[in-house]
Amino acid sequence: MLHWGVIGAGTIGREWMVPAISAQPDSKVAALASSDPERGRRYADELGIPKVHSSVADLLADPAIDAVYISTTNEWHEPQALAAIAAGKHVLCEKPLALSLDGARRMVAAAAAAGVVMGTNHHLRNAATHRKMRELVQDGSIGRPLAARVFHAVFLPPHLQGWRIDRPEAGGGVTLDITVHDADTLRFVLGDQVTEVTAMTASQGMGQAGLEDAVMGVMRFGEATIAQFHDAFTAPHAYTGFEVHGTEGSLYGQGVMTQRPVGTVTVRRGGTAEEVPLEHENLYERSVRCFNAAIRGQGEPAASGADGVRSLAVALAVRESAQTGRAVRVVGD
Ligand code: NDP
Repeated sequence: MLHWGVIGAGTIGREWMVPAISAQPDSKVAALASSDPERGRRYADELGIPKVHSSVADLLADPAIDAVYISTTNEWHEPQALAAIAAGKHVLCEKPLALSLDGARRMVAAAAAAGVVMGTNHHLRNAATHRKMRELVQDGSIGRPLAARVFHAVFLPPHLQGWRIDRPEAGGGVTLDITVHDADTLRFVLGDQVTEVTAMTASQGMGQAGLEDAVMGVMRFGEATIAQFHDAFTAPHAYTGFEVHGTEGSLYGQGVMTQRPVGTVTVRRGGTAEEVPLEHENLYERSVRCFNAAIRGQGEPAASGADGVRSLAVALAVRESAQTGRAVRVVGD
């Protein structure tokens, strides 16, 4: 049985990740570290977590803990991951991995040097919809991919309208929150790397302290594929979607940029449109299942640390492009 420690008593842990770890036959959440022990205790009681630590160091000092899941606000990811790696724990970290590319690279390098597994919790790679689209791109069903379009504008629910919209120092803003997911999912589905981006951001009434709450832009993959994306916290009535348009056909993923195991994929080709059968599965449960297997030496995390570096590189380039008004080359690992 793998014993997980959860760092940060947050919403994603409550709604998805603690249940996902607990749902595995080979893992359980053994302890929580929270900066507020009283709030942490209430959280642990609610979710059935036996032990609460008031410091990350205390949790990491427990030799019974095999792996940690880090879901604090973004400025804490890097120092907490480095501390966990130094303590010999495997690390599944929330996105964005860090606030700087160098910081994210340090995390990946430290994990490699320590021989622990590191993953980035890019949940969308685990969706049956995106996995099917990747398969259809790979097997040539739509020919050569020419373009993709990502519709990921949502309405940030009131209970999440905190640091994401008013704390730049915590890594707030829609680009670090949502564009990182677009970048990772596009890389995953297209099987290609982003080389250049251009973007514009806006503050449409939710973002404060200079933080953007909407962004639109274009990513270039290789030389001949371009992808358009729209991310926002401010769009209560928008559908989400993910499309790939190839020389022989198009893929339409509808309602697919979500945490829930839902959505459809339709292939349009030769004058017909056909919805593809899918076996939906809880995205976060699959993420943990892959991570647990990787700890046992069976396969890789669904998204690796290096994948988290790449998605952060794209998001930071998107921000830079919006600030400078110029296209920005994306550096890789
Ligand atoms: P929350 O704001 O709910 O929690 C973030 C942290 O804030 C917690 O870990 C907790 O740390 C602290 N906190 C929680 N409640 C309070 C409170 N009432 N007062 C003060 N501090 C509080 O954020 P999320 O859970 O939504 O996001 C956490 C991380 O997960 C982020 O990095 C985000 O980008 C990522 N995320 C990823 C998703 C995915 O699908 N991959 C989806 C959603 C988020 P502590 O207990 O130590 O104080």
